[in-house]
Amino acid sequence: MAAHLLAALPSVHEVLRHPEFQAASPHLADPYRARLVQSVIQRHRDELRSGTSSSTPESIHLDVLRSCIGEARAIASPFPRRVINGTGVLVHTNFGRAPLGELLSRIDARALAGYTDLEWDPGSGQRGNRDVALGRALCLLTGAEAALVVNNCASALLLGLNTLAAGKEVLVSRSELVEIGGSFRVPEIMQASGCVLREVGTTNRTRLDDFARAARAGESVLLKVHQSNFVQRGFVQQVPVQEMVGLGGALGIPVIEDNGSGLMSADGVAVLDPEPRVAASLDAGVDVVCCSADKLFGSIQTGIILGRAEMIAKMRQSPLYRVLRLDKLRLAVLDAALKLHLAGAGDDLPLWRLFHTDQAELDARIGGLRLPGPQTRWASCRRVPLRATLGGGSNPEATFASAGLELVHRDLSADALKRRLSTRDVPIVGYVRQDRLYLDVRTFFPDDFPQLQRALDELSGEGAAE
Ligand SMILES: *Cc1c(COP(=O)(O)O)cnc(C)c1O
Repeated sequence: MAAHLLAALPSVHEVLRHPEFQAASPHLADPYRARLVQSVIQRHRDELRSGTSSSTPESIHLDVLRSCIGEARAIASPFPRRVINGTGVLVHTNFGRAPLGELLSRIDARALAGYTDLEWDPGSGQRGNRDVALGRALCLLTGAEAALVVNNCASALLLGLNTLAAGKEVLVSRSELVEIGGSFRVPEIMQASGCVLREVGTTNRTRLDDFARAARAGESVLLKVHQSNFVQRGFVQQVPVQEMVGLGGALGIPVIEDNGSGLMSADGVAVLDPEPRVAASLDAGVDVVCCSADKLFGSIQTGIILGRAEMIAKMRQSPLYRVLRLDKLRLAVLDAALKLHLAGAGDDLPLWRLFHTDQAELDARIGGLRLPGPQTRWASCRRVPLRATLGGGSNPEATFASAGLELVHRDLSADALKRRLSTRDVPIVGYVRQDRLYLDVRTFFPDDFPQLQRALDELSGEGAAE
């Protein structure tokens, strides 16, 4: 059987000459086209040999051709591609966390297109630091003595621990040894940074005394980690960061906080109440605070480190900083967001615009759609109230009022409908509850609605499900 199939594989030349493959790969130069076909045929050959192929002698030719066309097309489209987020999760890690929106038109594209003063000080004509101005602005915003920006929050914590705590015992509550997803696990980051994890307290309750008994004056380091993506209820107790600062001060040891979400302000927004504010931790006297810039800070993937000048200066001198530093494009987008925060216009950040869109506006946007009626293949396509969430590990159980569509199709199960919408040229991603598909429009941008209209219309008619 396998030998039979192997013999039926098309040759590289057969695929290369095929008009459909040629039409699908005009963006590939000949050597790369040939290499693509070779590698696809090799993969099919390996699958046949290992018995993991589902091809038959009749289908193998077409299967290989289809794979080659699929791969060629995938290379043609720019990466990352646009996705319409109908999940109602504002900071969605799978979809690139905070949307950048107009931040992209606020950066100086002309400057970035040419040479820039990234590491040059015009006054002295000497080499300058790439993030000094940005660091000053961060200090202005948060009240920190000094600031540094690196690749992401994981990098920030790695650099902070490696610089301040390598070879030392770092005390963490057992309830804060969290996993964030995408392989960020506090114990593993600590190990990679060269410090020694010392767990204190219990899973559900940790008291200041647990830290006090384990800490050694002038030697240990105290670490506070935001629990982020889970909630503990019942017989629980955590040590407020203020108390850890008191202990750190008394013993002459630093307190580091992994804040995660990077909330700057947003007073009076109830859903955010339990979220720790970066500035509040610094006010309380935490020595070093790390956070992400692409969660509630509302900008591009970056890790922000804030804290005592001498500690930040040490980090800047670490070879790890050189490894984790940012490029000009990301610094520019971070700077654009920072300027909005400093202008007191954080609500104008794309993420916060979505958050603050009021119910009437959401209704008006849904009202602008021509919803297919009962004479179509849609059994139900109606506006419903929904609950959106912040996402990104912030206040995980809190939801807030939103609106969207409830979709039921006569010819497609909810899961099949979900697949249909999420495999469009511009994927539209919703969620299924009790055999219904929901699309939350709070996370839609205005130009997402015409795409949704097209999808609704296309699935209205007889045969739409085929
Ligand atoms: C999200 C998060 C991280 C990871 O942040 P990245 O920017 O993705 O590296 C680390 N710690 C906490 C508490 C978080 O919430």
